[in-house]
Amino acid sequence: MPQTQTPSRQTVSPPPPDLTDQEVARLKAMLKARIRELSEQDSDLRARLASPPSAKANTFVAGTEGAMAAEADDEVIALLQHEQAELVAAQHALERIDNGVYGYCMECGVSIGLARLEVLPDAQLCVDCQDMMEHRKGR
Ligand SMILES: [Zn+2]
Repeated sequence: MPQTQTPSRQTVSPPPPDLTDQEVARLKAMLKARIRELSEQDSDLRARLASPPSAKANTFVAGTEGAMAAEADDEVIALLQHEQAELVAAQHALERIDNGVYGYCMECGVSIGLARLEVLPDAQLCVDCQDMMEHRKGR
């Protein structure tokens, strides 16, 4: 029984604007707040690095204490690096908002989704690609 099928729509529509202007504005505000927070953390950490533990140097003489101070520095440096990376990611996210490509996976192009962006406003990848990335990177 021949039934005329309506040809399936082939039109490739551009990705739907997944995020409303309001949502983007909210995420943008989150990112800006994050950047402010990170910049403060940054100067905080730098101050910690810059200040020599001279005050303590008199009380704790060398030995293990010295080693511990060096370890503390390493920790501050690690924190700084981490925070720098986050800062860059947040700034990139803002750039992507301005370029109108925000909210889409940089790997496969699917929309990342508001739920994920609200937790991770600077997410560049969808959950799947992020997973794959981590597996590739990881051990
Ligand atoms: Zn993806």
